Amino acid sequence: MVERSSSLNEIPAIQVLSPEVAARIAAGEVIERPASVVKELIENALDAGATAIQIEVREGGFTFIRVADNGHGIPRDQVSLALARFATNKIRTAEDLSRVRTLGFRGEALPSIAAVARVEILTRTAGEIEGTRLIAEEGQQTVQPAASPVGTAVTVRDLFYNTPARRRFLKSPLREAERIREIVHRYALGYPHVAFRLLIDGREVLIAPPGTPLERAATIWGREVADELVPVSWEAADLRIHGLISRPTLGRASRAFQHFYVNGRPIRSGLLVVALERPYAGRLPAGRYPLAILHIDLPPAFVDVNVHPQKAEVRFSQERSVYWGVSQAVEAALAPFPRPEEATIAWPFEEAQPAPRPLAEPAVEYGRPSRWRAVGQLLQSYILAQSEDGLIVVDQHAAHEQVLFERLWAGDAIHPLPSPLVLSFSAREAEQLEAELETLRSLGFDLEPFGGNAFVVRALPASLAEQSIPALLNVVLEEIAALRRGGGDPRERIAMRLACTAAVKAGDGLSLAEMQALLDALQETWSPATCPHGRPAWFLLSREEIERRFLRR
Ligand code: ADP
Ligand code: MG
Repeated sequence: MVERSSSLNEIPAIQVLSPEVAARIAAGEVIERPASVVKELIENALDAGATAIQIEVREGGFTFIRVADNGHGIPRDQVSLALARFATNKIRTAEDLSRVRTLGFRGEALPSIAAVARVEILTRTAGEIEGTRLIAEEGQQTVQPAASPVGTAVTVRDLFYNTPARRRFLKSPLREAERIREIVHRYALGYPHVAFRLLIDGREVLIAPPGTPLERAATIWGREVADELVPVSWEAADLRIHGLISRPTLGRASRAFQHFYVNGRPIRSGLLVVALERPYAGRLPAGRYPLAILHIDLPPAFVDVNVHPQKAEVRFSQERSVYWGVSQAVEAALAPFPRPEEATIAWPFEEAQPAPRPLAEPAVEYGRPSRWRAVGQLLQSYILAQSEDGLIVVDQHAAHEQVLFERLWAGDAIHPLPSPLVLSFSAREAEQLEAELETLRSLGFDLEPFGGNAFVVRALPASLAEQSIPALLNVVLEEIAALRRGGGDPRERIAMRLACTAAVKAGDGLSLAEMQALLDALQETWSPATCPHGRPAWFLLSREEIERRFLRR
């Protein structure tokens, strides 16, 4: 979970972002409807370290929205700055954009709200004896001393009073109240340790005391649903996936009960939906969807939060790792619920599957980690490397496997043999090779039938140039046989198998130069966190952890 501090002397000051930084921010309309106001105000309360948040709306939020929190408050001399465009206490520089841990970072929400409504902010910090009331209406601001508990209450009245067309367009207060309720549920499910209370037209429709994730799910979805949830907990390298998902005995007719949070930020993502639902194939009837509250936590540098004006979508620089991770995590959580024995697994998600991405696409520039330096080898199996963040321990086999897999998958360079090699096979083997000839060619093999059951090999994928050709074709044949029994994508499976065969093994001694080359190649991969089977390829022993162990902190 994202940690936020609420102690007074740590409240960073609000500052207006420089034009250069502001220009890098994904621009767009933040306030589309009353529910967007509620979302932004809840995010501000959470960013302020609140442990209790009360939301009150009237007439679908069109006439009245108030979000009150017990967070760190805003010092009097900064209150009016909070309403300035691009004024924030969360980032300063463009580099900070790759370190964002807060929900807000653009300094756009309050000014956008104040542009279309009458806003009142009542706030006090723990260090102030007296609070502050700011009233912003029609471009005018007044700031006065006022009694206030520690925390902040933002009241928004007469939303869109100055843009009647927008107001007419969104006419139904009932529908809007429903949207607001959904928004509050989403944050309440993601932040179970924070108390939430929601009042709609004076009626208390939600009271959620702080609790465990499961208790919170019971508060929102009911005890009966909560009894059907199972925990998810999975970790590899610096990717952590945790939360709750439904047993296959429980499904819903829509995906409205699926909630994903990336570093605490609720997001929409087709990729995550597919990764979640994939392990349910064959377990849950088609047309039913699992429920989920899933947190994906990873270093902020691997997530670009700055791609969507309402911050509802993010981009992962290790998309494949995240996809794998979520599927593995869900698969592991569902292990006690095996698929019915005989069920042939219909694949209901074929269309929803993300198109296979060319691995050779330009690496996402976002948050390239600093270069790892090899410092030695441990037990002839693990490479020890130094990074800015601490000690990296790399599983040499898993890492090499991933590097080779990605090269093969992307279409490796071709290594022509000095002279063609003719190999004979059994009739059955020849038939199997023949059937996957196109697959093998697409991976970089130049292989052709040579009369009878013989084949001539003229070239190999460059990454496998050092390997024994008969041994390689042997594992290919084994894999083709396994594919016929179990199914799967032949190209992916054969590439994985070849990568595993050719990769260095545990027990292989490596020179420092070889280790460095492998580290560099791993860092260049699209998905460095795991091997192709999804096992972790490395982990970080952070500087903090090391210092803690030596009692330096
Ligand atoms: P952002 O959240 O992107 O920084 P906002 O316009 O939402 O921008 O808020 C501007 C600033 O006002 C925040 O950076 C924060 O310093 C302050 N602020 C807003 N709401 C609160 C709150 N509920 N508690 C404390 N500070 C707040
Ligand atoms: Mg904000």
